Amino acid sequence: MRETEQAKGKGQRGNPLLEARGVSFSYRDQVVLDKVDFAVSSGELVALVGPNGAGKTTLLKILAGLLKPKAGTIHAPAPRAKRIAYLAQSDALPLEWTALEIARLGRVPHQGLWGASTRADEDAVWNALEVTQTVEFAHRRLESLSGGERQRVALARALAQQPQLLLLDEPTNHLDVTHGAALLHVLRTLALEGLGVVLVLHDLNLAALCDRVVLLHDGRIKASGAPSSVLEPEILEAAYGAGLERAVLASGRVVVVPR
Ligand code: ADP
Repeated sequence: MRETEQAKGKGQRGNPLLEARGVSFSYRDQVVLDKVDFAVSSGELVALVGPNGAGKTTLLKILAGLLKPKAGTIHAPAPRAKRIAYLAQSDALPLEWTALEIARLGRVPHQGLWGASTRADEDAVWNALEVTQTVEFAHRRLESLSGGERQRVALARALAQQPQLLLLDEPTNHLDVTHGAALLHVLRTLALEGLGVVLVLHDLNLAALCDRVVLLHDGRIKASGAPSSVLEPEILEAAYGAGLERAVLASGRVVVVPR
């Protein structure tokens, strides 16, 4: 696995919030993750990229505690139900519920299912709606919202939980280009406040906006480091197979496109 100096430096700054060591996983006899080491620190925005079937969703589910690794160890903040928020690719949210009701679900780990809602709970819920720009949908049922709007409401639920670590599986797949970049901006702001974020991304140009990019291929981490060091055609092509071209914008931002 390649690791840049920058990434090493970052790892040394603080203790990891969550750390997986030597994690392996198989679905029946298909090995999907093979001795994976992965860590995320508080305040860090990490993009998990790789071709379809690389094992990204499986790794995220293991980090969330939803799947048990066949081998390896995970050190995660406890209790996970409060400290880690996980957003699946397609959460089966009740469509007849309003955005406000969905966001309030994020408070359940803090208050129990029948617990009374406190002022702090309501503040967390409305703050999450504001951050995800979904206040205008608060009293609308999910069934009346577009896929992208629903995705933002689902994120509001995760943020209302006020987790230490946010695990997001393709949170931008229904978002248009502006909302995708806006989501990254929101996550960046939250990371500056100390939240750790791991997100599975297909869009390498959004991954370029993260602190670190981790490339997974065939169940192994092939590269991990600053976007400019991982988003290199020769590294990416070994995983994606396609001809890729990279450009560096005047801002220093890296852009990767098919050749
Ligand atoms: P990615 O998120 O990178 O696309 P996944 O973690 O979803 O990859 O899947 C990795 C591999 O595991 C794929 O080959 C997929 O077909 C297989 N897989 C995923 N979920 C299951 C499952 N529930 N049962 C059997 N195989 C699965």
